[in-house]
Amino acid sequence: MAQTYDFIIVGQGLVGSLVAMDLIKRGKSVMVMDHNHDQSSSAIAAGLINPISGPRLHLVSQFESYIYKAKKKYHELESFWNTSLLIPVTQHRKILSEFEKEYLDKRLLDSKYHPYIIKSEYKKTLFVPSPYESIEIRESYYLEVKKLLGLCKKYFIERGSYQNEKFDHQTLQHKTDCITYKNIQTQSVIFCEGHQVRFNPFFSHLPLNPSKGEIISVSMKSEKKFLHNWGHWMLPVKNNVWMLGANFTREKLDTQPTQEALNFLLGSAKENLTLPPFDMIAHEAGIRPSTKGHLPLIGPHSKYPKLYCCNGFGSKACLKAPYYSELLVDHILDGRTIPKEFQKCL
Ligand SMILES: Cc1cc2nc3c(=O)[nH]c(=O)nc-3n(C[C@H](O)[C@H](O)[C@H](O)COP(=O)(O)OP(=O)(O)OC[C@H]3O[C@@H](n4cnc5c(N)ncnc54)[C@H](O)[C@@H]3O)c2cc1C
Repeated sequence: MAQTYDFIIVGQGLVGSLVAMDLIKRGKSVMVMDHNHDQSSSAIAAGLINPISGPRLHLVSQFESYIYKAKKKYHELESFWNTSLLIPVTQHRKILSEFEKEYLDKRLLDSKYHPYIIKSEYKKTLFVPSPYESIEIRESYYLEVKKLLGLCKKYFIERGSYQNEKFDHQTLQHKTDCITYKNIQTQSVIFCEGHQVRFNPFFSHLPLNPSKGEIISVSMKSEKKFLHNWGHWMLPVKNNVWMLGANFTREKLDTQPTQEALNFLLGSAKENLTLPPFDMIAHEAGIRPSTKGHLPLIGPHSKYPKLYCCNGFGSKACLKAPYYSELLVDHILDGRTIPKEFQKCL
């Protein structure tokens, strides 16, 4: 006999997890499908949320709206499971060049940057000083993404809302009043497949521009437990574990860690920080679902309106996914408008 769910959600990375939690909160039944977080970039991400990015020290557009929604969502989930997920962190950033220094001077004169950037001192940090100053960047956080994925997965399993399965797009059938997938009948399917949406025949045309990144975890004792950012970063997490990341390449898009990236990241850390002795614990690689116009891809398929996409968060999923997953759910359930630029390629 056919099982009926309001929604099938394909992919239980950060995005699929948030979409599913939002739908459940709104009283909808969901079936989440994922195949062991295979190639999930959420499963390896550091979870950083940073208001100021790039060598131009640019304030992320709409940061205030995104961080408001992110804090609300993650704090709600923290209360639900009585645990911590979103961790505030003090971020110190080293100014590396005349170019960055020029932008810093501009930013310090601009009142919109005042809540986020203040001057700091090298001696507080592990940095090898540069000829330029260092700054502290306020409103920085990291999300315990792996923990969140684990909690969501357990919750979905307990509700009978989870199937460990590689979704087979060819098996999906469009009927007049519903969609069927094997023995499941549903109103809509929401695809949250991260970079693997490239292999989804309904959405393979999306302007994805994925990039590979690698992260190293080390065990290291230091009292200077700050997020150190010099273009690359080192983040203290728990129990003397620090994460070091991340490189960026579009050359060979696979999830194999490489010796080249390891040498590059360790070299960069040693050049910019005075590091106490450390032991390497892990080295992981993933693929960011970045897009050509740096815009997320949210909304219904242009030909098959019962199929939806929620994707394209690049390196800012932890900040932006709570905002856009809610926008998509409000669109589906209440008709809230999704701005055209996010839908135009679907
Ligand atoms: C090295 C690195 C560091 C990063 N650091 C940060 C950071 O600090 N902060 C930040 O915000 N972002 C960071 N990111 C980016 C972030 O990881 C991604 O934007 C985000 O995790 C994407 O989430 P997602 O749910 O869209 O995709 P994913 O996490 O990739 O999840 C997609 C899921 O779909 C499943 N799936 C795909 N196809 C199918 C199918 N056919 N059937 C069933 N299941 C399927 C996969 O198994 C996977 O579990 C980083 C990325 C990398 C690579």
